Amino acid sequence: MELELEPLGLPSDLERPIVIAGPCSAETEEQTLKTARQLAAKGCHMFRAGVWKPRTKPGGFEGNGEAALPWLKSVKEETGMMVATEVATAEHVELCLKYGIDIMWIGARTTANPFAVQAIADALQGVDIPVFVKNPVNPDIELWIGALERINGAGIKRLGAIHRGFSSYDKKIYRNHPMWQIPIELHRRYPNLPLVCDPSHIGGRRDLIAPLCQQAMDMGFDGLIVESHCNPELAWSDANQQVTPDILDYILSMLVIRNETVTTENISTLRKQIDELDNQLIEVLAQRMKVCREIGEYKKAHDMTIVQTARYSEILGKRGAQGSLMGIGQDCVKGIFELIHEESVHQQMEIVNK
Ligand code: PEP
Ligand code: MN
Repeated sequence: MELELEPLGLPSDLERPIVIAGPCSAETEEQTLKTARQLAAKGCHMFRAGVWKPRTKPGGFEGNGEAALPWLKSVKEETGMMVATEVATAEHVELCLKYGIDIMWIGARTTANPFAVQAIADALQGVDIPVFVKNPVNPDIELWIGALERINGAGIKRLGAIHRGFSSYDKKIYRNHPMWQIPIELHRRYPNLPLVCDPSHIGGRRDLIAPLCQQAMDMGFDGLIVESHCNPELAWSDANQQVTPDILDYILSMLVIRNETVTTENISTLRKQIDELDNQLIEVLAQRMKVCREIGEYKKAHDMTIVQTARYSEILGKRGAQGSLMGIGQDCVKGIFELIHEESVHQQMEIVNK
């Protein structure tokens, strides 16, 4: 389905990047206003703060709810910044409208639930407000598009997407794996849909914010939504991934903005997809070698030989057949697995001879 879009009408529409900054949560009136004043002083035009917080486990700070909405209203009145918050239910939408919230976003956990998204869409019927849809927690582009379609179907034309990475069982560098190929594909399908990157939730760590912002700019993203707190270490939620307004200003000032848009016609975009896939290949290989070393420990403990010929033939046969089914030459796959096997044996030798 086509999306019917209009410009977001945000302060930096003509200038990349759009920047939305503010704390993960509006904790107290003082913290909210203090952070907002510092951000406004750095020239920030859009302020974010979570009022309803979806927490993985009960017992954490779940947001101040309606009580925090007047604080956002004060931010708007005092600093002139537009204010944004996350909505997860129809009631949240109604309250945001009541308190004059300027921008709403749908969080990753909500995007994954079509019933919840539809209820939000119904509440937005007839309203003209910019809405951002975060990607679902799971790497499913159709679910992301489905949520965008539901919101757009309610008449929201000032629509944008936020890439905040995808959760995985196996946490590596990132809190949420970026899987850049997914937002790139979204952009290929909807070139006019503004795309914003959330480096705080992708990285989960302050020190990853700057490189992720640069990476997003290099890929032609339209904007950034970054968690910024007047005292990040003491934040009540997501303390590790927030930076002070000062640091954020520094990070933004160091960004190199290249005027290159993301299109598949564009060779450099295709190369970035290749880089991301190669990166995944190496990560998977490293994981495989780790398991091989564990097998090495087992073989050592049980006095087994390192090379088990029958198992090796089974792997070559099975993967060769899989490769040809997937359009890769059987010999190529065989060659790759011979090399992988050689390295696996080498890694196991090191364990056994330790
Ligand atoms: C947030 O923006 O604070 C948040 C909860 O994000 P996400 O939905 O991406 O986890
Ligand atoms: Mn957060």
